[in-house]
Amino acid sequence: MRIAIDGPAGAGKSTIARRVAAVLGYVYVDTGAMYRALTAEVLRRSIEPEDAVAVSSLAKSLQIMLRHDNETGQQGVLIDHRDVTEEIREPVVNQNVSMVASHEGVRTAIVAQQKSMAAQGNVVMDGRDIGTTVIPDAEVKVFLKASVRERARRRSLDLIRRGYKVNLDELEDEIRERDFFDSTRRVSPLRKADDAVEIDTTHVSVDEVVDMVLLLCQGREATH
Ligand code: C5P
Repeated sequence: MRIAIDGPAGAGKSTIARRVAAVLGYVYVDTGAMYRALTAEVLRRSIEPEDAVAVSSLAKSLQIMLRHDNETGQQGVLIDHRDVTEEIREPVVNQNVSMVASHEGVRTAIVAQQKSMAAQGNVVMDGRDIGTTVIPDAEVKVFLKASVRERARRRSLDLIRRGYKVNLDELEDEIRERDFFDSTRRVSPLRKADDAVEIDTTHVSVDEVVDMVLLLCQGREATH
């Protein structure tokens, strides 16, 4: 089975996707990490994130690998064999990733890699366009959402844990901006697939959301 989990920044996609994958023994693919890795490399090489030609050409030539750590359940990210797992979560990457991910050439290169990962089957993929573009025929499609305040709060906990100072209002603005940019871009925008099940996670615990997704999977299995 292929499970697509989409939604805006901070809606809980990676936490839920990772947990569902662990329960089912599936591979978890964090597609945002691929756009983040490309962004980290764009910045490292001092390429302008707005430069569609240069960024797309880098996307074509870079080897981005996701490596699963069975002990921590975390996904490591390598660019041309360099470990960038921590680097891709830095605030400067948050601020530039949407621009980098909006270029058509970037999406062509990265979506092609994601489609071939999905073709292996038994995957849980999270992102923005999984149910609409990467796996439009996924067996289970979920769209997670939550209030902006709650999403900012979750992101702030994440950043504080990693030693950053945070301002909740600024974080909220940044999330709002990123959502706007992601949902209004021309290619592959953030959008709920017509056949995706929407779950609002604002007041729901992680365990409950995981159970809901597992229930959808069981329902899907029962009909096949
Ligand atoms: O999910 P995460 O916040 O790590 O994603 C970072 C950014 O990568 C998003 O804001 C979006 O611009 C881009 N992205 C995308 N398509 C995906 C996953 C992420 O455009 N499937």
